[in-house]
Amino acid sequence: MKLRSYDIIKKKRDGGVNTKEEIKFMIEGYLNEEIPDYQVAAWLMAIFFRHMQEEESYNLAEIMLNSGDKIDLSKINGKKIDKHSTGGVGDKTTIAIAPMVASLGLKVAKLSGRSLGHTGGTIDKLEAIPCFKTDLKVNDFFRIANEVGIVVAGQTANIAPADKKLYALRDATATVEELSLIASSIMSKKLAVLSDGIVLDVKVGSGAFMKDIDEARELANIMLSIAKRHDRKAKALITNMDQPLGETVGNSLEVLEAINTVKGKGPKDFTKLCIEISSHMADLSGIISYQEAKKKLVENIKSGVVSKKMKEWIKAQGGNEEVVDYPEDILDISNNIIDFKANKSGYISSIDTEKVGIASMHLGAGRQKKEDSIDLSVGLKILKKLGDKVEKGETIAKLFVSENSNVEFALDLLTQAYSIQKVAPSNFLNEIIFDVLE
Ligand code: URA
Repeated sequence: MKLRSYDIIKKKRDGGVNTKEEIKFMIEGYLNEEIPDYQVAAWLMAIFFRHMQEEESYNLAEIMLNSGDKIDLSKINGKKIDKHSTGGVGDKTTIAIAPMVASLGLKVAKLSGRSLGHTGGTIDKLEAIPCFKTDLKVNDFFRIANEVGIVVAGQTANIAPADKKLYALRDATATVEELSLIASSIMSKKLAVLSDGIVLDVKVGSGAFMKDIDEARELANIMLSIAKRHDRKAKALITNMDQPLGETVGNSLEVLEAINTVKGKGPKDFTKLCIEISSHMADLSGIISYQEAKKKLVENIKSGVVSKKMKEWIKAQGGNEEVVDYPEDILDISNNIIDFKANKSGYISSIDTEKVGIASMHLGAGRQKKEDSIDLSVGLKILKKLGDKVEKGETIAKLFVSENSNVEFALDLLTQAYSIQKVAPSNFLNEIIFDVLE
């Protein structure tokens, strides 16, 4: 029987399960411009309310994966383990993790994006390092990975173009926050890079897509099952995003924090997350066990092996490696600083982390639209986190601003984001890692 998009939409609207052929028909038709976006939008909204079963998610991931190129990493010797975060506020983990993992003998060869969001993507952040090049020639990509063990480049290959087109439509139709669609979207891109394994950092909380831990577990399980069916080793960590990660949000500020962390001077929560993710990456590689990796990483940070690796990496990609020794002198961080102060005394009882991220974006650290440029020098330094005591008038966060920052709006958002109560809160979860799934 001839497939019709109307019937496929209706089937999903009524709670049915779309077959692989039906999903393929919709995705390929949309890519080839044979199916109009209003029909794909209606289908997406039906999926949003009716969801997809695991089999449908798997099929969607596979169809989107096969819409583009695959990146063969076999020219890089050794074990290549990838990582992916579902996104959070103040998430600079790749920059600290890459030298940690490489210090254990693994290879990190990553393609990263600029992305929309509260701050730039990893590529924007890395460009805060003077002269750091992210548009590498293919030969240089493989050479640096082999010589240094780390390479992070901007994504120029045609990876999962169907996801790119569908994601833009989801973004415009309020259908991003659906587990099955998120899982297929992320895995279509992760599977395109032929790594030896993937560690997924699935964030949950007020600054994440997933607000609920059970939902985060479900998302992780769908992604793990897609990875397994592709014979790809994978683990998922469910991690806390109920407050900004570490102490900074903003591009140069986050690079400064990542550098401090590889030197053993980073915030506790961020350091712990980086060591945990790196140890699980090492474990997946089979080179060294999780426990051994954790021990070795603490030693490597203390002895300076990790910061040395970071310098080698920065130099290999054309950047000024002195930034590791003198980050505050070299990074462009605004010296126009405004305090966000507590309007009453008490304890920080909750933080609407997404609002903190949006505040940072309005200072100029992130993009609202693809075409927007970002200011690497602006952002936030968070001085008070969940459970901390504050006196009225005490500084909660410092705003690093420029003349283009919308300071008033950002301060207003921060006031809305922070709740202060009289008694010390006992019901917040201070753990950074809630669960590890395999
Ligand atoms: N990140 C992605 O790549 N896709 C989603 O759908 C959500 C987050």
